[in-house]
Amino acid sequence: MRNRYRILGAGFCVLLTWWAASSVGLADSLRPAHPFRVLTTIAPLYSFVKSIAGETVELANLLPQNADPHDYVLSPGDARRIAQADLIIRNGLGLEFFLEKALAEVDREKLLDASAGITPLPQWVSPGSPTGGSRAGEMPPNPHVWLDPVLAVVEVENIVRELCRRDTAKASNYRARGKLLVEELLRLDERYRHSLDPLPDKKMVSDHDAFAYLAERYGIQRVAILETRGHAGLSPKLVAWVLDSIVRNRVRALFSEVNHVSSELRSISRDSGVPIVLLDSMESGALRADLYERVAEANRQALVGAFQGDSSAHP
Ligand SMILES: [Zn+2]
Repeated sequence: MRNRYRILGAGFCVLLTWWAASSVGLADSLRPAHPFRVLTTIAPLYSFVKSIAGETVELANLLPQNADPHDYVLSPGDARRIAQADLIIRNGLGLEFFLEKALAEVDREKLLDASAGITPLPQWVSPGSPTGGSRAGEMPPNPHVWLDPVLAVVEVENIVRELCRRDTAKASNYRARGKLLVEELLRLDERYRHSLDPLPDKKMVSDHDAFAYLAERYGIQRVAILETRGHAGLSPKLVAWVLDSIVRNRVRALFSEVNHVSSELRSISRDSGVPIVLLDSMESGALRADLYERVAEANRQALVGAFQGDSSAHP
């Protein structure tokens, strides 16, 4: 009898051990071996994901602070981060040309274009440039959609949807925090409208066409863009055309970015007497959750100051 109990007891232990082992196996199969890894390409996208997901994902950004996406080259460390990511979020619209070759090596299934669904604007082609205005349709689109707060909402909603789809356990958290971020962006849009709508003659001359979508949203006319990044230099004919356009259109301010003011824009400012006002495209910005709201608000104040005529000149 005692032997019978012993055999039954041993059998129960084997069953218990098997059940415990299979339960652990099941839990392991449901639980990722590491925290959900998200890799963004540029600082504004990092800022969106940080606001939406907080510390619940392992978040990294490809571009270090002060790196320019328009001439960035991937490092071996970047290639490793691309391979290890569960989700790669890029802006798209041709901004991340540096990713193209690397992505051939990885599963494109884990790639999200945050700009999906946005109708792109063409890149600026100056009527006075040698190429003229007719080839604009053949060029890649202008990628800087995030600087328009309303289009930033589209990017945030795309990101929230993708995070919920791929990391279902935290979906309600992503939705709740994403909703708060969207509300903040819409309040920002309201501030832009409220302060810019009453101002007449909002005209823009700049040396990087990062603010095209923002200009379109808030009724700012782009008079001339001296796109100097990636160019060997601007022709004297184009510079003369820009100077003439500034006088004819009574342009009040030239726009550039910290650490990116081109020598061409400086000399145009000297010749025309029109001051340079600094904006920030955020593409080389700091990796922090509040980057977008902080910089967009600073841009708004700089634009309002410039169009009110109280901007200060930068050499
Ligand atoms: Zn740019």
